[in-house]
Amino acid sequence: MKAGANLVCWKCGRPLDAVLLPIRRLEVCPDCDAELHVCKMCEFYAAHVVEACTEDHAEEVRNKERANFCDYFKPTPDAYQLRDGAATQASRAKLDALFDQDTHAGNADTASTRGALDDLFTDDCDGK
Ligand SMILES: [Zn+2]
Repeated sequence: MKAGANLVCWKCGRPLDAVLLPIRRLEVCPDCDAELHVCKMCEFYAAHVVEACTEDHAEEVRNKERANFCDYFKPTPDAYQLRDGAATQASRAKLDALFDQDTHAGNADTASTRGALDDLFTDDCDGK
């Protein structure tokens, strides 16, 4: 067995170099406790295909964020970048840029709107 070298947590992006391979079914991220034997950590996970899996023989796993029994599970180093949240983060960055401009103009209303938006994003990210 070797350590999870270049793997990162699909949820928080923390390096999993302390996690031994192959990933055990009940292995969790040392940082955020996310289960790691999950679709979103897998090389075959793809949100745009049927059942979100590109491995033809794998049985459907309904919850992509809970530990599964899939025999085809194969962790990918790209799990964190590929997850759905990447798009959210990109939008967030654009929003930040927009609001930064307004903030410099001294618009207090914009600041409070920004706070409400932050709450929205925070709720979304918890995903529980
Ligand atoms: Zn994590």
